[in-house]
Amino acid sequence: MDLDFSPDDRAFRDEVRALIADAFPPGLSYDDSREHRKMWRLAMASRGWSLNKWPVRFGGPGWTPGQNYIWERETTSAGLPPQVPGMGMAMLAPILFGYGSPIQQERFLPDIREDRVVWCQGYSEPGSGSDLASLGTRAVRDGEVYVVDGEKVWTSGAHEADWMFCLTRTSSESRPQAGITFLLIDMKTPGIEVRPIISIDGRHAFNRVTFDGVRVPVENRIGIEGEGWTYAKGLLTHERTGQAFVSLSMTLLARIRDAAAVIPGSGGGTLLEDPGFVSRLTLAEVELEALAMTEMRTLWEVAAGSAPGAQSSMLKLKGTDIVQRMTEFFIECAGPYAAPWLPATDFPKGTPQPDPIGPDWARREIARYFEARAASIAGGTDEIQRNIIAKHVLRL
Ligand SMILES: Cc1cc2nc3c(=O)[nH]c(=O)nc-3n(C[C@H](O)[C@H](O)[C@H](O)COP(=O)(O)OP(=O)(O)OC[C@H]3O[C@@H](n4cnc5c(N)ncnc54)[C@H](O)[C@@H]3O)c2cc1C
Repeated sequence: MDLDFSPDDRAFRDEVRALIADAFPPGLSYDDSREHRKMWRLAMASRGWSLNKWPVRFGGPGWTPGQNYIWERETTSAGLPPQVPGMGMAMLAPILFGYGSPIQQERFLPDIREDRVVWCQGYSEPGSGSDLASLGTRAVRDGEVYVVDGEKVWTSGAHEADWMFCLTRTSSESRPQAGITFLLIDMKTPGIEVRPIISIDGRHAFNRVTFDGVRVPVENRIGIEGEGWTYAKGLLTHERTGQAFVSLSMTLLARIRDAAAVIPGSGGGTLLEDPGFVSRLTLAEVELEALAMTEMRTLWEVAAGSAPGAQSSMLKLKGTDIVQRMTEFFIECAGPYAAPWLPATDFPKGTPQPDPIGPDWARREIARYFEARAASIAGGTDEIQRNIIAKHVLRL
């Protein structure tokens, strides 16, 4: 079997590399400034490549899965996002393609495409995380509106969001999966309160969102009342397929090699010459290559019209395992510089902060090590992915 790229794919890869070199010369960092982020967005848009996963009828470039794979790999290894970031693009858009009415598609897709509106995901509730179908935020029909009451939690970015895609309960009469309705809610609607949850690293990403008599027009309902579970599950498979982290792990692997090539190992040579380290790194690389093939296979199947299904759980579970191992290799490379990172808030205001010690990459990668732990929880925990695989793949 020929696993290499075809000549067409290689030509496409050269085109992508040329765009990146042209639009985003080495030395610039995407995360550094708003200006840099805008530059990259405009560069993608100039070629019509920012909508790489969108169907052609909605303006997508009609790439093959192979082209999508190359695009993602090249952009990620250059430290650039492969598409306009955000939940609107990654999660809601596929739901609108499949289940949104033409009016909803017309109303919401252009703002997602142009990155004009920020979306957040209102799924989890206190007591309803893994067991999402038990959610209790109620939406009661009152003429042409739903009146929503309840509470969502862990809502990433709700404090900056303009809109929320939200799961609500419209009926409790039969099994919990029935009676869930998928609503799009304008965050400026009276009755919504967003309260911050500050995480252990001092950052504000999470929120609690409460709804008190929030009136949501019926026209903002996706699909049929009570069928929201079907749409929500579809959205989760898209979320999980995007959580295989293959490109990120490949980028980290290359950086680990660079770092280990100059760090002393136990036998007198560098860490990269240490047989124990290299054999573990190679094993992770082999597993990563296998994961990349599985991801490609899934992308081809999706392109041929099938839904990702339980395969998305396999991708997420294995992808999480590998990306977390990559961050652990960095801890090994950093050695004593992997001491706990102290957030700036630990120092009284006005006190000069001590100079950081060790290489710059060590601090960045230590932060990534902690952040990567969250991948075992977000989008459905590892245990839940195993349950799905046991039931739907192994038929246990
Ligand atoms: C970084 C991050 C971002 C997030 N962003 C959002 C967001 O934007 N919007 C949103 O709605 N939610 C968000 N979440 C919440 C996330 O979806 C939930 O945390 C997740 O679904 C788990 O739910 P829970 O926290 O209630 O844990 P629980 O469901 O209470 O689980 C606790 C533990 O029990 C285990 N467990 C539970 N049930 C089973 C079972 N049947 N079998 C075996 N083990 C089980 C779990 O694996 C876990 O280890 C985010 C979470 C993280 C970490």
